[in-house]
Amino acid sequence: MSVEKLHFLKTGRCGVAAWMLDTQNRPAGMLDLPIWAYLIETTDGPILIDTGMPDEMIGKPDLFTQPGREPEIVPRMTADDTILAALGRAGYQPSDLLCLVNTHTHFDHSGGNRHFHGVEVVIQKAEYDAAIANRGADPSDFWNDAGLNYRIVEGDVELVPGVRLLFTPGHTVGHQSVLVTTPKTGAVLLTVDASYCRANFEDGIPFAGADEGLELQSIAKLREIAKAEQAFVFYGHDTVQETQVDTYPAAY
Ligand SMILES: [Zn+2]
Repeated sequence: MSVEKLHFLKTGRCGVAAWMLDTQNRPAGMLDLPIWAYLIETTDGPILIDTGMPDEMIGKPDLFTQPGREPEIVPRMTADDTILAALGRAGYQPSDLLCLVNTHTHFDHSGGNRHFHGVEVVIQKAEYDAAIANRGADPSDFWNDAGLNYRIVEGDVELVPGVRLLFTPGHTVGHQSVLVTTPKTGAVLLTVDASYCRANFEDGIPFAGADEGLELQSIAKLREIAKAEQAFVFYGHDTVQETQVDTYPAAY
């Protein structure tokens, strides 16, 4: 088995308070961030990384806004932004997948999980255990569906030749990033939310998460891997970088 192509899939946008990307300087205002899923085509079938936001956020930007308070999270989603629509544009449906990888259980990464019954969902043990422990208490409970078949992994693992899962806790307790090696581009490091943006990764600016110290340790680990692999590094929610990559049908 080998990796053939990597595609970037856009799955909507989300407004977030700017301080969340820089908890040191805490700038005021809101940012409008891209939400991504990633499709890896292999000789044995496609692998999907993350499932975007849940369908019930379509046309509901005020879902998280408390009356009388400044909004901090504003999902901007249309029917075209669902994971099924994005996957469909690439010519696939869930049953075509070799497997699905969940980088973590936040709503903008596992929101569409429920559409993937019958597909193996690969998640880190620490992330799964924490999700189980917080079940019901966390508003982003979209990972939690009785029909889902989770496959638990622990630490850094080779998912298939050319796709490595990297344990990068900090943003959440069991976050994982993905290193993909493609024939066209070579190594591509999808930090996902181990770095929201370039400043987190390159300048070590801490950002919103469960444990900022652990975030910086995971970034140090990823920087070493990126250097050793001479990887193209793609961040989880970077508004500059989103203008520099091409989405499906472009392939990397
Ligand atoms: Zn995210």
